[in-house]
Amino acid sequence: MGSPEILYMVVPCYDEQDVLRETAGQLKNKYSTLISQGLISEKSRILFVNDGSADGTWEIIRSLHEAEPELFSGLSLARNSGHQNAVLAGLMTVKDICDMCITMDADLQDDINAVDEMVKKYYEGNQVVYGVRSQRKTDSFFKRSTAQFFYKFMSFMGAEVVYNHADFRLMSRRVLNELAGFREVNLFLRGMVPLIGFKSCSVYYERHERIAGKSKYPLGKMLSFAVNGITSFSTKPLKLITTLGFVMSLASIFAFIWAFIAKIGGFSEHGWSSTMCSIWLIGGLQLFCLGIIGEYIGKIYAEVKQRPRYIVEEFLSDTNKKEENNDLQ
Ligand code: UDP
Ligand code: MG
Repeated sequence: MGSPEILYMVVPCYDEQDVLRETAGQLKNKYSTLISQGLISEKSRILFVNDGSADGTWEIIRSLHEAEPELFSGLSLARNSGHQNAVLAGLMTVKDICDMCITMDADLQDDINAVDEMVKKYYEGNQVVYGVRSQRKTDSFFKRSTAQFFYKFMSFMGAEVVYNHADFRLMSRRVLNELAGFREVNLFLRGMVPLIGFKSCSVYYERHERIAGKSKYPLGKMLSFAVNGITSFSTKPLKLITTLGFVMSLASIFAFIWAFIAKIGGFSEHGWSSTMCSIWLIGGLQLFCLGIIGEYIGKIYAEVKQRPRYIVEEFLSDTNKKEENNDLQ
């Protein structure tokens, strides 16, 4: 192994004042061990991305940076842009100043002890190292089963994601530079990274409970995240609609024959209920299918506008004094 390389940690934070100091402390310990073991360079940094928090998150990040600028950096977005955009903002900020980078949630649910193995796998030549949850004992039964369903449904719908992998992953500088070429506005990083390719592997860890604060991903947000993932990565729902339309047309031929026979046989008066049922069923199906098509049109609309995916308000760093770096988007 040559000289140790620069590791940047990108940590998105939205209203995380309850956990931030604890997280910073644990990451600091991890960094000093890694540096003393010669695994990472002393130029390695931890970048906290403030995703438009309404609480004291940014003040904490600023004070961490002021106390230890050679360890903590901060990036503040102009408003809340969502987890995926916050992570991307961090990645695009560090892509030219790091050799490798790890994204991790602020709530320490991802095991920071997996970082050592991730870094070792990087030195073995892996460009992407996925953190995969080996178990979810600490998540509630509801969260666990809905999340399992999420992965299965995604792959059924044609959007391949690494099973039980969220956004805890290591990426090399090379991968970050390729990621910069993905210009889509509807971000779904865990679907995009496997598309980049290169040698990759997984490390396994146990998911912990959130150390404090509450989840920003309730069921509704998780569902819309799943819909976003599917419609961003697969046109399978559109194909399913076509199949459905075909099957319905076939069925209608039989219905027609049945109606014809009933007419000739003189027993056609009955059937009010079956008519009502089919009107409701077909009406519902049509609306549902239109809705799916609408989802895609909505996405095309958002993509065509090409609005910036995030806007940086402030960047606190001792290595790279850039106040405004909107050009990095
Ligand atoms: N987060 C963010 N912007 C948002 C929502 C969440 O940056 O709009 C961050 C949050 O601070 C945390 C990570 O994304 O570091 C994951 O969120 P959370 O832990 O609430 O989700 P869960 O683990 O419950 O799925
Ligand atoms: Mg969490």
